Amino acid sequence: MTLKLHGRYLFPLLVAIWCLISWYGTSWYADQKSNSVITSNQEAMESDSLALFQAFEERLNYLASLPALISRDPRIIKAVERYSHVQAIRAAGNDLKAYWSNQPDLAMLNRELNALANELAVDVIFVLNAEGYSIASSNSETSGSIVGTKLTDRHYYQAAIKGEKAHQYAVGRKTNVPGLYYSAPITLNGERHGVMVVKLDILNFQSLLAPYHAYLTDNNDVIVLSSHSSYLQHILNNARFLSLSEEERQLQYKRSEFPVLPVQPWNGGTTISLLRLGDLPYPVLTTERQIPGGDLVSHLFQAVPEIPLIQRERYIFATITALAGIAVLYMLMQLINYLQNLHRSKSYAEAESLKLQESLSDRENELRRLAFVDTLTQLPNRNALLGHLATLIPETLSDGRYGALFLINMDSLKLINDRLGHTAGDHILTEIAVRLPDAAARNNYVARLAGDEFVVIHLTTAATEQAATIAAKQFGHDMLSRITAPYLVNDHTVHMTASVGVTLFGSKLTVEPDALLAEVDAAMYEAKHSHRGGIHFFDDQVRQALEGRAEMANRLLFAVRANHFFQVYQPQINQEGRVAGVEALIRWQDDILGNVSPATFIPLAETLHIIADIDRWVLTQACITAGQWQKDPVLREVPISINVSGEFFSMKGFVDEIASAASLHNAEPSQLMIELTEGTLIADSEQNQRNMAELHRRGFKVAIDDFGTGNSSLSYMRRFNVDQLKIDQSFIRDMLSDERSLSIVEFIIKLANSLNYNTLAEGVETTEQHLRLKTLGCDLFQGFLFSKPLAQDGCESYIRSLLEQ
Ligand code: C2E
Ligand code: CA
Ligand code: CA
Repeated sequence: MTLKLHGRYLFPLLVAIWCLISWYGTSWYADQKSNSVITSNQEAMESDSLALFQAFEERLNYLASLPALISRDPRIIKAVERYSHVQAIRAAGNDLKAYWSNQPDLAMLNRELNALANELAVDVIFVLNAEGYSIASSNSETSGSIVGTKLTDRHYYQAAIKGEKAHQYAVGRKTNVPGLYYSAPITLNGERHGVMVVKLDILNFQSLLAPYHAYLTDNNDVIVLSSHSSYLQHILNNARFLSLSEEERQLQYKRSEFPVLPVQPWNGGTTISLLRLGDLPYPVLTTERQIPGGDLVSHLFQAVPEIPLIQRERYIFATITALAGIAVLYMLMQLINYLQNLHRSKSYAEAESLKLQESLSDRENELRRLAFVDTLTQLPNRNALLGHLATLIPETLSDGRYGALFLINMDSLKLINDRLGHTAGDHILTEIAVRLPDAAARNNYVARLAGDEFVVIHLTTAATEQAATIAAKQFGHDMLSRITAPYLVNDHTVHMTASVGVTLFGSKLTVEPDALLAEVDAAMYEAKHSHRGGIHFFDDQVRQALEGRAEMANRLLFAVRANHFFQVYQPQINQEGRVAGVEALIRWQDDILGNVSPATFIPLAETLHIIADIDRWVLTQACITAGQWQKDPVLREVPISINVSGEFFSMKGFVDEIASAASLHNAEPSQLMIELTEGTLIADSEQNQRNMAELHRRGFKVAIDDFGTGNSSLSYMRRFNVDQLKIDQSFIRDMLSDERSLSIVEFIIKLANSLNYNTLAEGVETTEQHLRLKTLGCDLFQGFLFSKPLAQDGCESYIRSLLEQ
């Protein structure tokens, strides 16, 4: 739960945090960088500002010294003495300018002042008399001549007439040219007779500003000189100019308004000192300093074009850092997710395997039960019967009683199956089980032996064989009339007949369960074939028939010696429809008995203990075939399964025999599959275990034959490592009509998958069975649907014919 929660919100949260870190981190970095750039620029600017100040100081000191020097000229002193009275000139009706200009000595002075001005590199030099009128000027010859002009309102006059040296920034009254005026009193014998003035036009300072980004403002914050001409005739923010009266504005500037130089803080700037000047695309730093004399202020500014670059760089950097971080986070989250999924699927797999383990042990019990119970009727099966007989007979013998063993074979069940279907057949079989004597009664035992065969054991109370025979007859007839009474199936009334064989046991009579079953089987056979139904006792006649089997045994012993067998192979088909193996099956053709089914003679050979010889013969044939196939590129891929009896398998030299047969005929062990029945493996002897391990060590494959019919024990399956489970034909036959058979098939396939065995379905006769098994995941199929067992050459052609399809 917590993991899920993390997974959902953790990523966006981390991304958000990382974006913040990238943003502020790069911002901090950019600030650091900007600050150092600003500091170094500021230092450069301050030193420029000082240099500019010193340049001004030098020029202005020189300028300041000029008026006093010039004023000492005796001609000037004489002129101010002589032309001190304005009143008289005016009274005589003279124009001041014309009057003074026409005076020969003043005209001379004018010329000398003009020459001096050129020499001293100043713009105007002029002389004011005591009343503040300009009597002589270096520019008297020009249109801007100042001669005759009254300048009493000027500070440079007012201060100098009081005896001080003075200076002033002002706009020329006649010329309209702004400049710096420097003045000194003209004294004679301690009295002040006039004022000497030197003016330098402000434009003369242009060359001082030129190396810098700078402008000069006057006392009213009006820009009077600028290295950038576009800033000229502008005022600063909140300039003092704005508080001047209209009259003062006109007097000093001859205009009433100036545009304001746009200066703002640099947008978004973290440093206040950065300014945006006009529409410059980069910020500037500014510093101001009073020009010596205090009339003007220099404003120096320093462009810092690195700042926008740093900011752009910072955005890029922030974006890259954020994206890179997000990518790393994303990969990290994917990794964590992957690890979590791994962990989850691991625990899922663990939980699944635990579930499987549980279901396996449930199924194990179920299979164990199934081993002794008939799935259709729930009656004990053949295994259970044999076990029961083995304990019952000694008991019966010990208390001197007789028991009767009945073998009931329903005559026409096959017909019913064919006509009404297997479900109807199954229905009748379960109904028979109900009608048979009550198995719960102390004296009775009921079992289902095979498809249509049941066994009933009845313990009589008779003390003699004769009385026992009578009681058995009575019991048998009652039973027969019950089970042959009509059956109702799907609105059909069905009449059934049955053949019943009976044999007595106890006291001096036969005691071996196998022999007992052989007797009752023979009696039943007699009832069916000689008497067409009804009950038949095991008698001499039957005994003779049984002896026929003894003859068969003789013939079989002879056949083993004389080699009267031949081998056939039944193909096994995989999911792709190709032959993926063959099963070797033995055939016996006897001169007298004709074709005898292995289902008949193999059990006989087992009781005669000649089965190992038969198996050896089969083994040799199979190895010869496998050796031949080894040389063929197609056939070498097809393994051969060999049926091996329990008796042969448990022999000491078993594996050696197989291995030497294989190597003698050049057969590959991996191409030979040994089929063993569950019964063989259950006999859990040390020899069997050794043989099993040794088979595997040498590369042979092992299959469990007729799987599901024996006493299946998962414990042996875990102990022995087998390669294939062959699902018994009986389940395949019934799986489409009987739920239980189907679920057993399903279970076996699931079990095999979990243990990594492959599965083979035996006795596949219909397409429906094949398709169903295919969807259930069964690996291989064997049965008449594909092919009957074939002679070797027929089988080889069959294999090739499927490859060509
Ligand atoms: P099995 O090992 O279960 O062999 C399969 C039997 O099923 C064969 O019977 C085969 O002919 C038969 N069969 C194959 N497909 C179908 C089908 O679609 N429907 C039906 N109803 N039957 C099918 P077969 O050859 O008569 O052999 C009977 C049994 O005899 C075998 O059963 C096996 O237990 C034993 N047997 C046969 N050959 C040998 C052998 O060489 N050595 C040993 N020890 N036993 C053998
Ligand atoms: Ca087999
Ligand atoms: Ca089989």
